[in-house]
Amino acid sequence: MTPLDFDARHLWHPYTNISDPGPMHLITQAKGVWLTRDDGVRMIDAMSSWWCAVHGHCHPAITSAMQAQLAQMPHVMFGGLTHEPAIELGHRLVSMLPDGLDRIFYCDSGSVSVEVALKMAVQYQQAKGRSERTEFATIRGGYHGDTWKAMSVCDPVNGMHGLFRGALSIQHFVPRPTIAFDKDWTDDPVANGLGALEALLETKNDRIAALILEPVVQGAGGMYFYHPGWLRGARALCDAHGVLLILDEIATGFGRTGALFGMDHADVVPDIICLGKALTGGHITMAATVASEPVASGIGESEPGVVMHGPTYMANPLACAAAIASLDQFKQRDWRYEVREIASQMERELAPARKLPGVVDVRILGAIGVIEMEGRVDTAVAHQRAPETGVWLRPFAHNIYCMPPYITTSDELSRVTAAMVSLAGDMR
Ligand SMILES: *Cc1c(COP(=O)(O)O)cnc(C)c1O
Repeated sequence: MTPLDFDARHLWHPYTNISDPGPMHLITQAKGVWLTRDDGVRMIDAMSSWWCAVHGHCHPAITSAMQAQLAQMPHVMFGGLTHEPAIELGHRLVSMLPDGLDRIFYCDSGSVSVEVALKMAVQYQQAKGRSERTEFATIRGGYHGDTWKAMSVCDPVNGMHGLFRGALSIQHFVPRPTIAFDKDWTDDPVANGLGALEALLETKNDRIAALILEPVVQGAGGMYFYHPGWLRGARALCDAHGVLLILDEIATGFGRTGALFGMDHADVVPDIICLGKALTGGHITMAATVASEPVASGIGESEPGVVMHGPTYMANPLACAAAIASLDQFKQRDWRYEVREIASQMERELAPARKLPGVVDVRILGAIGVIEMEGRVDTAVAHQRAPETGVWLRPFAHNIYCMPPYITTSDELSRVTAAMVSLAGDMR
């Protein structure tokens, strides 16, 4: 049995049929933007391996920080023990995040950080004597992870609500913000969609602990970019109704949208933020849930006084070391310039796709480029032709999209955009 045969027979891949997994590539090396297959074929990782590898794979500064940490202490439990990497990473995060958002809970993946944020919200409301507030509000088209509670706040149609109906707790959905990122804002609550949120919070706020959103960019739920004005309005409505605001910056954080965080476009500060994906520059799994002081002290000063969560690998030192080195890169390189250059080159080079039949929209925000198709895109076709185009793309639903590493050169990016436009042309 070849390694690929074994894989096809025994290994589950994400959202992939184990009986019919489709084309699969055996990758033996990932360096910079390049993935190398066992037969030497190279492909640019235009997905940054799902938003993560923003500085490129196998970054020398990150891997050497990890090697040093590995020799010292790969892991110790975080209950009753602490360590320099956790403390040092804490310093970096506190200085990067807005004032007042500074009580850090480390966890092992994005979905878990969402679970922790939702728990914190319920515990905070309980601490304030509002124990009926156990439900959540969100917008349609969102994605917050695959664990049970996170799944319940994902889009009810394109998420997994149909399949798990009955097993998922009911949450409250309002329509996706109507005004796109680059369109003109209007304060009319019907036209901007905030009216629906207001109506929900007015009638159900006694049951709602928090509103959870991906700020400005909805990722896996549809690659939609909405107007920062909506976020500002949502913040004000949450405040008026005693509802906490949780921002899921797992995909948008660390420069991807052109701002350090998605929330910066709106100058909004949440009560709780979720970070993940690019936190370690794509080198090892790690996430964090960061709460404001009032949320943290509210939980701390009431029964049971602790956040009811404690991952075994909480604050894993190896992951902390990777994250510190990754965050250092944001100081050492001009990431704003890199992202801006990627955005303007994508504007130029994806524009021709607008004229292709079957293309509904082409949109770019920061280092995210999307070609939205009328029909569903066949992921297997993209995977099949990747070795030939030298570009690794993983389209889903109606979208052919990329979020390349910030270090992608102009020549490399031209290959990515060409592969996207040609895929769009062949997809109708
Ligand atoms: C990927 C993602 C998650 C889940 O993170 P995992 O590390 O895959 O558990 C949650 N929210 C958003 C916005 C994401 O993009």
